[in-house]
Amino acid sequence: MGSFHPRPLAHRERALLDGALESLGPDAPRWRDQAARAVVVRVCECGCGTIDFGYPGEENPGVGAGVTVLADGIYEEGGLPFDVLLFAMEGRLSSLEIVPPARDSPKTYPESGRVKWLPGPHGT
Ligand SMILES: [Zn+2]
Repeated sequence: MGSFHPRPLAHRERALLDGALESLGPDAPRWRDQAARAVVVRVCECGCGTIDFGYPGEENPGVGAGVTVLADGIYEEGGLPFDVLLFAMEGRLSSLEIVPPARDSPKTYPESGRVKWLPGPHGT
């Protein structure tokens, strides 16, 4: 993993996270505070755009893709379907994952406005 210095979310990452939270409808407000405090603690090295969240100075459960998919979206690029998954772990937003249709798919980052979010929340 190397030494990755936590950084703020980039504009496009923040926009995508906001879109994911919006898809949660009435469940969205309970996540907004921590979403505002979240920083990026890991970026997937394959270039897919997946990021993991951390919360500096706070008691911090594990980060990364967890078992709870909070939000689930789809977008198309070049006729290919990409998935966007927002994970939570132990009550924390933990990862925003971009899932390309295949390993050698072009690396593109979804524009928030183009993602079709499935009605959520998905986790329990
Ligand atoms: Zn990746």
